[in-house]
Amino acid sequence: NKFEQLGLNESLQLAIKDLGFENPSEVQEKAIPILLEKDTDIVALAQTGTGKTAAFGFPLIQKIDAENRNTQALVLSPTRELCLQITNEIKQYSKYVKGLHTVAVYGGANINEQAKEIKRGAQIIVATPGRMQDMINRGMVNIKNIDFCVLDEADEMLNMGFYEDITAILSDTPENKSTWLFSATMPQEVARIAREFMRKPLEITV
Ligand code: AMP
Repeated sequence: NKFEQLGLNESLQLAIKDLGFENPSEVQEKAIPILLEKDTDIVALAQTGTGKTAAFGFPLIQKIDAENRNTQALVLSPTRELCLQITNEIKQYSKYVKGLHTVAVYGGANINEQAKEIKRGAQIIVATPGRMQDMINRGMVNIKNIDFCVLDEADEMLNMGFYEDITAILSDTPENKSTWLFSATMPQEVARIAREFMRKPLEITV
């Protein structure tokens, strides 16, 4: 099938079959092979509803070492709703990957409960920037060794005033990670994040 041609492994294909996805969307077709094969940064211009969560979620799930319980990926998203939605999608996509844990971290909920979940071992953290920065400041989370950082709806996050939080968080991650930025538009602030925190990103437009 088409998802196999993109290089996705069997456990992802099983989950995709359960979900009833028949064909990859355009952003998935463009991003997945690159993210699976190359250790590169990308800037993807894509609107919501284009299947972008799977475009970064499938490669993340395939590249993460589920046998290692350390946090390996951080996904930043603008709102609690989106954070929960992404977490839910990643959990569905990774249902056949034993030992892979994804935790949602967002404001307005008990921070100690979220810290406890992370402590149990979460390879993927999906977070809103404010709560993430709060948890870093309190020493509740360690992102110093992550391999992947996804900035989802980067323009929205910056519109909401998260520039300081995002740059502080990125400064707390290792330089040799991969950064995947998704945005519907490319205002100056987004371009600045890409310029200052990313390594010659490939551009994908859908
Ligand atoms: P997103 O743009 O990531 O918010 O995705 C929008 C919706 O499309 C979500 O409900 C996904 O579950 C769904 N979706 C993602 N990829 C596909 C696909 N290849 N085929 C059908 N539905 C999809």
